[in-house]
Amino acid sequence: MLTNNLTVNNNTLYIGNVSAVELAKEYGTPLYVMDENLIRENMRAFKKSFDEYYDGNGLVCYASKAFSCLEIYRIAKEEGVGTDVVSGGELYTALKAGFDPKNVVFHGNNKTIEELEYAVSVNVGRIVVDNLTELENLNGIAQKANKIVDIQFRIKPGIDAHTHDFVKTGQIDSKFGFALETGEAFEAVKKSLEYNNINLKGLHCHIGSQIMDTEPFTHAVEVMFTLIEKIKSELNYEIDELNLGGGFGIKYLENDDFIPYNEYIRECSVVVKKIAKEKNLKVPFIMIEPGRSIAAPAGITLYTVGAVKNIPDIRKYVSIDGSMCDNPRYALYQSTYEALCANKAAEEKNDIITLAGRCCESGDLIGKDMPLQTVDAGDIIAVLATGAYNYSMSLNYNRLPRPAVIFVKDGKSRVVIKRETYEDIIRNDV
Ligand SMILES: *Cc1c(COP(=O)(O)O)cnc(C)c1O
Repeated sequence: MLTNNLTVNNNTLYIGNVSAVELAKEYGTPLYVMDENLIRENMRAFKKSFDEYYDGNGLVCYASKAFSCLEIYRIAKEEGVGTDVVSGGELYTALKAGFDPKNVVFHGNNKTIEELEYAVSVNVGRIVVDNLTELENLNGIAQKANKIVDIQFRIKPGIDAHTHDFVKTGQIDSKFGFALETGEAFEAVKKSLEYNNINLKGLHCHIGSQIMDTEPFTHAVEVMFTLIEKIKSELNYEIDELNLGGGFGIKYLENDDFIPYNEYIRECSVVVKKIAKEKNLKVPFIMIEPGRSIAAPAGITLYTVGAVKNIPDIRKYVSIDGSMCDNPRYALYQSTYEALCANKAAEEKNDIITLAGRCCESGDLIGKDMPLQTVDAGDIIAVLATGAYNYSMSLNYNRLPRPAVIFVKDGKSRVVIKRETYEDIIRNDV
């Protein structure tokens, strides 16, 4: 199994000591199920190695776009981690959950004026400024509110993160942030120092997602320090904070290589301390923003098999009651997943199938040519590691209601997000 909270007993898959088959019966399918203990363990693991390697001089912020709802912010708050949000909607959810705005970092490459006003009015801890238009708007908004706003700048360090093109963000050809190599980033820093209602605290980079290698991260640290050094020597301004973003890869398939997160953190901390010493700079307050690595491994999605269509010598389609609406990641990036039959979990995977959704799109697949037990109509399929970028990316295409999200913990289950109804689907229709 991918994670050790998944077990097999009596030919049945269990998550957090709850039978997946019973969950499907009780709550219906498609169904998102997340193991609360694993979410908490993942947050704690990041926090623990952060405390260890940065001597407490840092903050782990859960990147909530991976999975956002009231309960996850409550959990993050309880576990003592901050959060990053990328929209007014995520910010609103975090605040409704009682999150301290000081521990919120606000991202986005095109925040609206209304979102910036909202963030300023509730005193969000850090706004990560993406471009000069935003910088100017933000200064104006802060001036009107008679506030000084703490910001970080989103920098493109010009690094190839060795991952899918759609989730690479650190290279010069990216819509996010200021380029380093063209001098654009330095000019933005200079400009920000002229604004009275902006307080430049730090620099931020996020080089991509699902990165399975420590080298791009340590390289990003080195590159970011060249800018910190230039700002100090040429502008006599000291950068207090360095935010290294998220992007830590997870195991989607049994034989995916996987680097323990404490290893990333340790290696980066060594580089941070070494460079700070060499260049006679103070060790900045370090932040990271893991999203996928906290939420993805904790979640599975349960589906019921409908039609099985075998096209001889071509392909076997197993159709399920879910679709790209609850998991658009194959359609977006040809993502790979491990699946198993929850009610035949101890049996051998002796079939190769293509898991097809129910939307009117040929590209609506959850995965192509996946090993699976031989399944029939009525069997329950579990797709693993779906805790991140599944619910949060879900859609209502074909007017399909979104599935419920269930949290399990120590043998018990509870609803965290209710299943949408047809009534929900027409709620805003007039
Ligand atoms: C998406 C994102 C993250 C989280 O990325 P993961 O791959 O989920 O860890 C962190 N920071 C920023 C700015 C992001 O855009």
